Amino acid sequence: MNDREALVSELVGDRADTWDLTGLIPAEPLRKLGEAGLLCGELPEQYGGLGLSSLDNGRFTAHVGSLCSSLRSVMTSQGMAAWTIQRLGSAQQRADHLPRLTSGTLAAVGFSEPEAGSDLSAISTEIRPDGDDVVVDGRKVWVTAAHYAHLLVIFGRYGDGAAAVLVPADAPGVTVERVADPMGCRAAGHAGIRLDSVRLPRGHVLGGAGAALTMLVTAALSYGRMSVAWGCVGILRACLAAASRHAKSREQFGRPLAQHQLIGGHLADLLVAEQTATRVCEHASHRWDEGSPDMVTAAVLAKHVGATQAAAAAATAVQVLASAGASDGHVVARAYRDAKLMEIIEGSNELCRLMLAQHALSVSG
Ligand code: FAD
Repeated sequence: MNDREALVSELVGDRADTWDLTGLIPAEPLRKLGEAGLLCGELPEQYGGLGLSSLDNGRFTAHVGSLCSSLRSVMTSQGMAAWTIQRLGSAQQRADHLPRLTSGTLAAVGFSEPEAGSDLSAISTEIRPDGDDVVVDGRKVWVTAAHYAHLLVIFGRYGDGAAAVLVPADAPGVTVERVADPMGCRAAGHAGIRLDSVRLPRGHVLGGAGAALTMLVTAALSYGRMSVAWGCVGILRACLAAASRHAKSREQFGRPLAQHQLIGGHLADLLVAEQTATRVCEHASHRWDEGSPDMVTAAVLAKHVGATQAAAAAATAVQVLASAGASDGHVVARAYRDAKLMEIIEGSNELCRLMLAQHALSVSG
């Protein structure tokens, strides 16, 4: 275990289930991880970041995901915000805002709206120039980490195109309201955001305003997909470990569960799922680190494989533990709820399959 992993292991300890049950990660671990730059580890050192490769940050993300998917979700949001500012912001905006994200400021990213879920072309949030300012009006839903965030990256319409704008969470006209009782990742601070005539200096609109919405959103979502995919590897590892431990120690019909072949089959399935997802994530991170044109598709593939494997494997792990894992407060019960949500976010299973089908058609000649 490297220093980064040791720090996060110490900060989470055995508290992930308590955070899940109370729906809250305490301020202290978030502050410590934020100030250490660990919530967005790929940011270059010039902005106070760690300059990790996608592969190294991915492996760290898997470690966090194996401990607590809520914390990993907060990390995904922070990394996605940092990546969006890095990709879309001007040099001045990068210099102004990125060092904040490595010194304790927490961020969240809002695309989804009540009428714009899978179909983000239906976004209606408006970013309107008004003199030296812009005025933002709209509503976002299910924004991960918005409850903790100081800074919101909001996507909306801008003239004939689209833009992303940096909105301080305490700006007049911003209302953040937590999602009541989310099914999983319960401590990830999901919230709806109302933006009522929020007035901001024009400099808060990230460079590239007026660009095509698809281009802006794909840039941000690709990072999110990589992070979720690696987080799913973490869920898979937690499930494999819990199921193996239980199968060795619990006896039925006079021998350990592990010696019943059908349970052995479940353990083999868990190992295959964990190894498959790991390899696909490694492939995507290599593409990302090479800046390959293939990286967008590789991220979709990794996210889809990670999420579907994690959701199936978490169900298998609950099956192996049976009543021993069937209550809230157990790692496999938490994994079961968390993993299901990974099949919905950053491109649902169906949307990933549609994108992969398009890719298959484009390469088939
Ligand atoms: P819908 O779009 O209504 O889809 C419903 C079902 O129909 C899904 O199964 C979908 O796959 C399927 N479907 C839709 N269109 C098609 C099609 N063309 N073909 C086939 N099937 C289709 N949003 C943010 O902006 N920021 C966040 O940080 C964020 N975090 C989230 C965290 C969690 C835990 C969850 C649950 C959601 C989060 N979201 C976030 C919102 C998320 O992006 C949306 O839930 C997701 O895009 C799906 O949209 P929807 O829920 O409106 O479902």
